[in-house]
Amino acid sequence: MDLRQYVTTVENWPKEGISFKDITTIMDNGPAFKYAADQIVEFAKEVGAEIIVGPEARGFIIGCPVAYALEIGFAPVRKEGKLPREVVRVEYGLEYGQDVLTMHKDAIKPGQKALIVDDLLATGGTVDATIQLIEKLGGVVAGCAFIIELKDLNGREKVGNYPIKTLIEY
Ligand code: IMP
Repeated sequence: MDLRQYVTTVENWPKEGISFKDITTIMDNGPAFKYAADQIVEFAKEVGAEIIVGPEARGFIIGCPVAYALEIGFAPVRKEGKLPREVVRVEYGLEYGQDVLTMHKDAIKPGQKALIVDDLLATGGTVDATIQLIEKLGGVVAGCAFIIELKDLNGREKVGNYPIKTLIEY
């Protein structure tokens, strides 16, 4: 399936000069959404993922069906102040500013192999912070999977040597 036809590009959103890739038009199409999740499920099997880690908010949408299909857990990565219990935190720079990401301290068990799943890799700030959070918790990053990669922003450099899977590249 050519997933690219289901992505909608929105020019000058959320700011002038940004060409936003909207994946809601993948999600609202049953076969396209299932195909995207299935591709990531196969990658998760290849890298031996034991838990899926997804940054809010679109990482929840694509990460959860992957975790469900594999009958493994899902651990959310959230902005500061959103998780109710003790957290680890990392400050990071993202395409549109500065922010803090957090995970619950017991979200990952030491040595557990975590696959990071998100909708899109841009500058790599989000995935870099998520890698740091998993490693702070003693987890092992099994790999990273994205529906879309914006190649010009070189986010892949932040992923370093971890296995990476992207379904559509621009
Ligand atoms: P990065 O941290 O610069 O790699 O940006 C990736 C994060 O920002 C992901 O969590 C995305 O959901 C979000 N993001 C950045 N650009 C876009 C876009 O064009 N479409 C959808 N999400 C985006």
